[in-house]
Amino acid sequence: MNIILLGPPGSGKGTQAKRLEARFGLLQISTGEILREAVIADNELGKKIKSTMDAGELISDKLVLEVIRSRLEEPDCKRGVVFDGFPRTVAQAKALEEIKRAKNEKVDVVIMLDVDDEALITRIEERATSAGVHGARSDDTVEVLKHRLQAYRIWTAPIIPFYEDRGILERVDGMKDIKQVSSAVNKIVDTIKNN
Ligand code: ADP
Repeated sequence: MNIILLGPPGSGKGTQAKRLEARFGLLQISTGEILREAVIADNELGKKIKSTMDAGELISDKLVLEVIRSRLEEPDCKRGVVFDGFPRTVAQAKALEEIKRAKNEKVDVVIMLDVDDEALITRIEERATSAGVHGARSDDTVEVLKHRLQAYRIWTAPIIPFYEDRGILERVDGMKDIKQVSSAVNKIVDTIKNN
């Protein structure tokens, strides 16, 4: 089974991906996490990735697709994947479709976490405050997160009609608490599993 979690920054994709991983034995693939690991390797490419991420901008499709293609060759992907933070552009969505088609596989469902703009800004501010305290991610400042929200609207939101056209988009109210969102997500996945 292949699941995509879609939603703006701060919508709770990472949290829900981890829960799906635990409940259904799937593998979470977060391009954000893979890219952050690449940044730890302190070379030229790492520096370039870091400055793009720190600005809240998207990494090039070419690089992200290189990373994803090689990750999807690993045998642990056979148990099924929850994609979190990928695809982020229509070009990435099309490429994923091709990659899956070549393996005789498909994306089974795209779960969209709907969160309204005002709530997102609040979450973003809270996350930035706690990141400041804990010294966490360098792209978790209000300014950068707002930039990331803008990148989402320009580049990622067009993925929604792309998957709607394919009849595999399911929407979940991401404003509810984590457990309620989780149970709505589980219901969708259960239905697909049983079909
Ligand atoms: P979040 O889950 O908070 O939305 P991520 O960890 O998914 O954030 O991504 C952090 C940053 O990594 C993004 O702002 C972007 O710069 C880069 N990134 C992650 N995934 C992709 C992708 N699929 N395409 C382009 N850039 C990406």
